[in-house]
Amino acid sequence: MRQLRVGEDWLVHRVLHYVRCRGFGNNTPTLEEAWRKTVRELSQALEAGLVYHDGAPELGPNLELDDDPLALFAVRITHSHQARGVDLPMFLGLFKYYRLAYRELLEQQLHASADLVEILGILRRLFDRIEQALCRAWTRSGESELLADMQDRNRTLTNEKNAYLTVFESLSQAAFLLDTMGRVRNLNHEAMRMLGGLDRPGSAYYSQDEEERSAPAVEDAEEAAAIRDPGAMVGAHIRQLVPFLPPIDGLLAGQTPDRALLEIRGPTTQGLRDFQVSISPMLDLTSRLLGAVVIFQDVTERHELESHLRFLATTDALTGVANRRSLLRRAEHEFRRARRYGRPMALLLLDLDHFKKVNDTWGHFAGDEALKAVCTACLGSLRGSDMLGRLGGEEFAVLLPETDVEDACGTAERMRHVVELLEVDWHGRKIRVTVSIGLATIEPSDPDIYSLMRRADLALYTAKDVGRNRVVLCADQPDASKLTGDRVEFVLDDV
Ligand code: GH3
Ligand code: MG
Ligand code: MG
Repeated sequence: MRQLRVGEDWLVHRVLHYVRCRGFGNNTPTLEEAWRKTVRELSQALEAGLVYHDGAPELGPNLELDDDPLALFAVRITHSHQARGVDLPMFLGLFKYYRLAYRELLEQQLHASADLVEILGILRRLFDRIEQALCRAWTRSGESELLADMQDRNRTLTNEKNAYLTVFESLSQAAFLLDTMGRVRNLNHEAMRMLGGLDRPGSAYYSQDEEERSAPAVEDAEEAAAIRDPGAMVGAHIRQLVPFLPPIDGLLAGQTPDRALLEIRGPTTQGLRDFQVSISPMLDLTSRLLGAVVIFQDVTERHELESHLRFLATTDALTGVANRRSLLRRAEHEFRRARRYGRPMALLLLDLDHFKKVNDTWGHFAGDEALKAVCTACLGSLRGSDMLGRLGGEEFAVLLPETDVEDACGTAERMRHVVELLEVDWHGRKIRVTVSIGLATIEPSDPDIYSLMRRADLALYTAKDVGRNRVVLCADQPDASKLTGDRVEFVLDDV
């Protein structure tokens, strides 16, 4: 009988296989663990019965063997199944499949053994003995005995239900139990709070028992009263209560057996909130759909925190423009896009002129103010699709997607000009700065954005060399000859 212990998993799955394909789903547990418990108890009863009877039990008329482990198991299993509303024919039918599963296990494991026939004979007798005791226990349970037993079990079940109801009500997520039509069978406290309902845990659950529901505790519009009344919530369709939930008919029709996860946003009594919604079908063991559990996890704060962290990670703290990392990331992205679609694109590198002197003359804080003012002024010369970023110190870059060389020179010159005109107020004094700008546009030979940056950098160095406060376009630009403007100059060396 060691085989029974070793083969427990196999037995559980085999029994469940028969339960499913023979349609024993009604009134039977939905969790595998409950079946494992019965299989384990049955295996123990068979082992103990074998010892008790010293082999195969005889099936005489004397059934008063109250210390027979097989009979004791039969009594226990009778009570638990009677309490669940299972009748004898159904249980005997189910038990025949237990017997079959055990027999199959031994046949598999002992097929080479000369004793197989004898062992199977003993197994048959052990099962026969249980069935005999089972019929007796089932028919012997008098009305009052059965009633007392059921009351006892009812108390246990009520306590268990209360424990789970407490867990359900104290969840920080809003939970709805739906039937297969999408109507709410129960909803927890958090779900009612989300809908602006009464602030009493369990009121939805208990409203189902009340014959006369108490009037809703709100006196405003009828519609609001209806939705705030827990009694009205139970039985309402989930989308009447939560209109921003997308249709879930497919899931309720059993078309998608797995849990669905959605991210949605919708109005609640606490304003517009973001939710992560999980929708899980509730199935019984035979895969019959009983309804669904819909759980709303409010992720608004998490989203806000994430977007704040994203902002911090991508923004330069002093000036509020993009930081180096986010500028380079966007530049790489725009470069690939321009390359793929054969679109123009330009890059400007800016470096403030003699900025050390600004700091030396006015102090570091004044320098900071100047950096901020320069950014604000430059942003005023850019389109929404352009991007200004601080590479570090007093060096900036501007990404100009969809911009040819001519327009890029125009933008660069405009920026140079606004910076030149800028007067930064510092305690009543005016600080003035100028900027040198190197410009390059995308070319077919550029392998990546960095080759464009190298050219713009070279042009910037030239701008510094030849006197500062000017825009210099890197030579080797196909449209360079079209350019006009005093201060736009050309680097003539090959890049
Ligand atoms: P050049 O025209 O050759 O660029 O001269 P420069 O003085 O600007 O020289 P450089 O670019 O080498 O020096 C940059 C200076 O900018 C150095 C530092 O004092 C100043 N700087 C860098 N970052 C900041 C900052 O965050 N705040 C302030 N106030 N100053 C900064
Ligand atoms: Mg510099
Ligand atoms: Mg500088």
